Amino acid sequence: MGDLERNILGYAQSKGLVTGVGDDMFRIGPVKFFTDGSAGAGTAWFSIPYENDASNYGVRCLTQEQTDELTLAAHRAGYQIAPHAIGDAAISMVLNAYEKAYAELPDPDRRHRIEHCGWHVPEDLARMKAMKVIPAGQPTFLYYFGEGYYTIFGSERPQHCYPFKTWLEEGLHPSASTDCPVTSPDPMPCLYAMVARKSDTGKPLGTPQALSVAEALHLYTYEAAYGVHDEERKGRLIPGQLADIAVFDTDFFSVEPEAFLTAKCLITVLGGEVVYRADMA
Ligand SMILES: [Zn+2]
Repeated sequence: MGDLERNILGYAQSKGLVTGVGDDMFRIGPVKFFTDGSAGAGTAWFSIPYENDASNYGVRCLTQEQTDELTLAAHRAGYQIAPHAIGDAAISMVLNAYEKAYAELPDPDRRHRIEHCGWHVPEDLARMKAMKVIPAGQPTFLYYFGEGYYTIFGSERPQHCYPFKTWLEEGLHPSASTDCPVTSPDPMPCLYAMVARKSDTGKPLGTPQALSVAEALHLYTYEAAYGVHDEERKGRLIPGQLADIAVFDTDFFSVEPEAFLTAKCLITVLGGEVVYRADMA
């Protein structure tokens, strides 16, 4: 945790706990700190006010200077950084900090991320691309919170949330995840939201950003591994990679996305060993 008030970065570093240390089952990941709140709660920090409250721009957790300082300290210490940023103003602030950190200490494959990365201004797409910053978005937010986005943002802004298709086409290596425990760890609403771009109430959320089933699985497997520098070891069904495999009772490629939501896992293989079988559960 790299937040200003609860920063354990120096302590962790003094114990040798830097990004990448560990083994296949438990490993030190990136440094996270909060720059804003959440869209659903009306606290994600935007450059324009919320539709339902013209005085509300969300909650800004850090100044630019504080963000620069936290970022530079973690960057210098060799950590991957994954700050929480959802609103466009928070995302721009993080990118400003990354530009300064990379200017001081270039490291082209560090793969700093932006955790969530809900709404960004178009110009920030080019900045993410230039610095190879990974948008680590949560399709589950569309599913569970999409209806609420309409309440606080009206009908237009929800269409521009989490542009997974654009990120993928631009080569940003977007990953998909659930943000558990914020939402259920069930991967099915996540897959559903990437392909259907709908909330659990059926509200569409930027349908042009819908992914194919193959693309959605790619984000959830290869790109998720890429986001933690692990794409050479896991994320694909090829010789030499860890055999972490789940077999489902549903062919995702031949059904409507609604059927993903009721798919059941039949077999789970972990590192080549069968660790779960539905018929033996
Ligand atoms: Zn977060």
